[in-house]
Amino acid sequence: MQINKIYLIILSFYIFKQSAATFLSRINIYALSLGRTVGIILLSILIVILGYLALNLGRVIRAFRSVFPSLKDFKKEIEQGEEIAQNTPKSLSSLESVVTDQLAQDFPELHLDERKNHLRDLLLETLKSNGYANIDELNDEQKLMRSWWRSKYKVDTEAPIVHAVVLHNYLRDKARRTLIFQASFQFLREGTKTQDRISFYYLYLLDPAERNTSWNCQQCGAPITSLGEKVCTYCGAAQTAGPEMIWTLAEVK
Ligand SMILES: [Zn+2]
Repeated sequence: MQINKIYLIILSFYIFKQSAATFLSRINIYALSLGRTVGIILLSILIVILGYLALNLGRVIRAFRSVFPSLKDFKKEIEQGEEIAQNTPKSLSSLESVVTDQLAQDFPELHLDERKNHLRDLLLETLKSNGYANIDELNDEQKLMRSWWRSKYKVDTEAPIVHAVVLHNYLRDKARRTLIFQASFQFLREGTKTQDRISFYYLYLLDPAERNTSWNCQQCGAPITSLGEKVCTYCGAAQTAGPEMIWTLAEVK
């Protein structure tokens, strides 16, 4: 009885083991044959692709480059952009046509063309002399240009050309008159052509020579403070003498 039981257990175990082995080996064969089939299919596809690539190499490369532009092409585009920038003068904006009537009314003796020529010469002189590197005695405008040059350029500004000088704007309020000119110019900086732009700010100020002189109305004695007024603001008397006002270059940037 006891022996029969043990025999039965061993037999069951043996049967289980055999069937499991058979089952596993069947799966194995199936997997192998499946793997071989898949492998053959993949290999065939790969051969077809490689064959196509080999036969159409030029076209494939072109298509690839159109989707992924090369670094070389990219650099070339940047260089072309830089070349265009080097040869294109900086744009200037001018409100001259808008403010010209008001300016002629306020300052009939102001000659814009003379002022522009003066600024063109001043700018060229500054660039050619590398910010007045070798000049000892400078006037106020030259000193201003010198500090502008020094704040912008550390290296020589050679072969300068001024493209244009325009009246950018004319601003007027109760206390102040401002004229703003702009100029576009180019120069060689360490052999490379460079385009740039400058703004000149003129203020209508008391002549420095008369800054310490006080002016009073010839009729009532009231102090004359307003901008180049030829009429007393207190009594209305016309003034034949008064503080001399001049356009003063106050800032460049
Ligand atoms: Zn007066």
